[in-house]
Amino acid sequence: MQIKLSNGKSIPMEMHKIKIVQQTNLPPVEARQRCIKEAGYNTFLLRTRDIFLDMLTDSGTNAMSDNQLAAMMQADDAYAGCESFYRLQSAVEDVLGFKYLLPAHQGRAAEHLLAKAFVKPGDVVIMNYHFTTSKAHVDLAGGKVLELYKPGAMQTVSDDPFKGNMDLDKLEEAIRTYGAEKVSYVRMEATTNLIGGQPFSLENLLAVKKITAKHGVPLVFDGSLISENAFFIHEREHPEMSISEIISEMMSVVDIFYMSARKSAAARGGLIATNQKAFFDQILPWVPVYEGFSTYGGMSSREIEAIAVGLREMTDLNVAGSGAEFVEFFVRRLVEEGLPVVTPAGGLACHLDALRFLPDVPQLDFTSGALSAAIYLVSGVRGMERGTVSTDRDENGNNVPAGVELVRMAVPRRLYTMSHIEYTVDRLKWLYEHRDLVKGLRFVEEPPVLRFFFGKMEAIDNWDLKLMEAFIDDFGVNC
Ligand SMILES: *Cc1c(COP(=O)(O)O)cnc(C)c1O
Repeated sequence: MQIKLSNGKSIPMEMHKIKIVQQTNLPPVEARQRCIKEAGYNTFLLRTRDIFLDMLTDSGTNAMSDNQLAAMMQADDAYAGCESFYRLQSAVEDVLGFKYLLPAHQGRAAEHLLAKAFVKPGDVVIMNYHFTTSKAHVDLAGGKVLELYKPGAMQTVSDDPFKGNMDLDKLEEAIRTYGAEKVSYVRMEATTNLIGGQPFSLENLLAVKKITAKHGVPLVFDGSLISENAFFIHEREHPEMSISEIISEMMSVVDIFYMSARKSAAARGGLIATNQKAFFDQILPWVPVYEGFSTYGGMSSREIEAIAVGLREMTDLNVAGSGAEFVEFFVRRLVEEGLPVVTPAGGLACHLDALRFLPDVPQLDFTSGALSAAIYLVSGVRGMERGTVSTDRDENGNNVPAGVELVRMAVPRRLYTMSHIEYTVDRLKWLYEHRDLVKGLRFVEEPPVLRFFFGKMEAIDNWDLKLMEAFIDDFGVNC
């Protein structure tokens, strides 16, 4: 909920109280310099004991509710037929309206099952935008991903409220070009993760369905971030509709739904759901092969219970908006301070535009990588590089400058408070004022694939030491 203050400004309000806490620790700047150097200037290789605020991802890191924790205590452990599964099935039917449920251990496992069941070599899967794992499973099945986003979707500064929309003309054209029988399915991703958590509109989804129905192509909905997309539709398109109504309206046109339960559902796990028995029958045989029996799908009964409660709770406006409103506040504060950030605010994270933040660091010196390392050094806050380090070399061995060079600062739901955000804004502002001290990075250990996970780098001209000296001049050695 946004609360309006008497000075005319509004702030996001935590509509919960904090009953269980976990201590965190702010290592002093000299310790942070040692840690980031040891981690090869790669924030994935830091240990959480050395991190003050972890904004790497919202995946599996959202705060759970008292009701979720209580439900976990009632888990029914059984290899087959456990009551926990049936409680999840009722939640899926009540919230999403689907009768058939297939559990999977997380979102990418659901994507694997869908690819196994529906993607044949030479097929094409049409998406509003890809997610890393959704693309990988289509590729591995011999298919090809076609992304049909609108021209403005890649602009980092924008006031388009629905950058996640699919381009309808291109969709018609693509289905005609490839032929409906070659299109395994059309996949719409809620709160499109990799373009900055940007939603699609209800109008766009309904229009996509008209086209897919006309051609007999299944419409698949990636609902990992479903409640955030519903929240944005409520804020920007249909304020008269509740979150439940928006979710029901969206689901009424979906043939196959799947999700990672690590995001909107504030637990860990995944699922596929549908109302069409033929689809269910097509996927079911693969569940025990890859996941486990069809009433647990690789998840512990405890997580199944937590997802069931998390699904019901995400339909509450205050829960659906709990992350998005903090992201909005974070982005608004950075804009006020004149820092370069992706707009409009998205659903899971605030994204810094590294090329505008560090204009003197070329992309081939890994601008976003250097920025994420510098942010940790000056604040103890961990973000994620989403730029040229995350883009592997091409087939000739050359580095490929990323289309957008970003640092993602995720805001896990209900985990951090406003003072955490204000602190982060302050340190980012200090860093921006000292941006001329930051230079690039150079690889010293470079894995051949997905190098952003395990790659190690060094700081060109030891810029980290100069940045640390400037920080100590202003704040001393204890901050
Ligand atoms: C996280 C995510 C996935 C993959 O889910 P995992 O649980 O991490 O395997 C798929 N799609 C979207 C949109 C996601 O955000």
